Amino acid sequence: MGTLTLPLADAVTWVREHVTVRAGFREFAREHRPVILSSGFLELIEPVLEREGVELEVHANGLDVRPDGWRAVWRDDAQCPECGEACKRGGLPRNGRILYVGDGYSDRCAALAADRVFARDGLARYLEAEGVAYEPFTDFNALRRALDRPSG
Ligand SMILES: [Zn+2]
Repeated sequence: MGTLTLPLADAVTWVREHVTVRAGFREFAREHRPVILSSGFLELIEPVLEREGVELEVHANGLDVRPDGWRAVWRDDAQCPECGEACKRGGLPRNGRILYVGDGYSDRCAALAADRVFARDGLARYLEAEGVAYEPFTDFNALRRALDRPSG
């Protein structure tokens, strides 16, 4: 990132034009109001949510954009007692049943703390290998249909 020197406004324009969301995201977000836990950057996530017309609670890292390069501002670099990394688990809601939807490495620890997990790609392979129950999903339309069915 230290080699990125473009202005943030240019990056935001690019993100708004090129970043896609999985099918059904907008409808899912409006119906279920998910909290977004991302290992990405708030400054680049919020423009996409705005484009999609949804306002959600987002826990993500920040950017310090300087003329000589970008720097990451980690939201929380406290080590998680479970995995020893600065993971997403600490961003989970404290109360209530947690339904977790994820696909990647950074979702592993938080997914293990959830009551019901929908996973694909790397997260699905990890949970499979660990023998942890999850439900597969393809996109948010499929997820919306799955949530109409009871779990278990
Ligand atoms: Zn953790």
